[in-house]
Amino acid sequence: MKAVAVTPGKAGSVRIIDLPKPNPTGAQALLRVHKIGIDGTDLEINQGSYGEAPSGSDYLISGHECLAAVEEVPKNSAGIEKGDLVVPTVRRPDDCLNCRNGESDMCLTGQYKEHGIKGLHGFCSEYSVSDLNFLVRIPEKLANLAVLLEPMSVAEKAVLQSFKIQERMIWKPKRALVLGAGPLGLLTTILLRTKGLDVTTIATRPKDSLKARVVQTVGGAYVNSIDQSISSLGGFDLILEETGAASVAAEAQGLLNPNGVLCFLGIYPAKEATLDIGHLYTDIVLGNKIAFGSVNANIGYFVRGLEDIGIVQQRFPGVLESLFTKVVPPSEFLQAYNPSKDEIKSVIEFPA
Ligand code: BGC
Ligand code: ZN
Repeated sequence: MKAVAVTPGKAGSVRIIDLPKPNPTGAQALLRVHKIGIDGTDLEINQGSYGEAPSGSDYLISGHECLAAVEEVPKNSAGIEKGDLVVPTVRRPDDCLNCRNGESDMCLTGQYKEHGIKGLHGFCSEYSVSDLNFLVRIPEKLANLAVLLEPMSVAEKAVLQSFKIQERMIWKPKRALVLGAGPLGLLTTILLRTKGLDVTTIATRPKDSLKARVVQTVGGAYVNSIDQSISSLGGFDLILEETGAASVAAEAQGLLNPNGVLCFLGIYPAKEATLDIGHLYTDIVLGNKIAFGSVNANIGYFVRGLEDIGIVQQRFPGVLESLFTKVVPPSEFLQAYNPSKDEIKSVIEFPA
């Protein structure tokens, strides 16, 4: 079978390779892959700056955003059957306290594995395998959107954790700021709009770009940071930082209202900016503010994400479909790995 693979650590190594069909073992299901979404992490892995092959392998099959059909599955109590449409989660636990209790997204040791990213092959091949306990069943009516479930689960975790943290007091958030309008920024924007927040999303694309239009379609305000500085936007109760630019992240912190919460979701280059930490810390103290990081998502957030995709579909029909700016067959994988600046989500679709 054909697979899209990389050599971790080697820039520009993404290629098609030929492999035998995988053999599921133990509690694994064999999956027939339908669609794979490509995100910034996939591009970083192909730049050689991230990613780890499974032990004993010198390549890593890529892809962690997946929609597939179950081809073979052992008898199970989860009710997963041959023919079901499923989305596998990304991370697999080690034996730390959090991992053992269903919170592999909160792993204490860093010894977790991630399909297509760290120590486990990804799903970008005709057939793939996943532990059946990490599969989310997809209803037929959401099949066309389900490849967005993995990034949606990451947005879901960031938002739910923000609200959970804010149970530390009376908190009625009104204004939210999303920094970045990639797939994750847009999904976060859409999610916050379904929760009734007044959302501003800021990025570097023009106001008439597709990204800006997505924000406006769901009733959000889009700001082009080239035209308008973020410091002119006023105070926010909730800020989600998804640009990965440390200077933007630091500036955003100053925009938090008293009692506000800031969630970091980027990977920030080292030693990027010098800033006045004393001023920043004092502002956090005097405003009872909080900043935290969020990565990955356990299966619970996938389940909630699926519900919210259904809600978004009713509230804002067509908006999630509009995120798919490129759909290519596996033979044209390079197109998915070279997105333009206006690209939102590129998908590799395997022939049925
Ligand atoms: C994935 C997460 C993963 C993270 C770090 C992201 O692109 O969506 O599941 O934990 O990369 O590897
Ligand atoms: Zn762990």
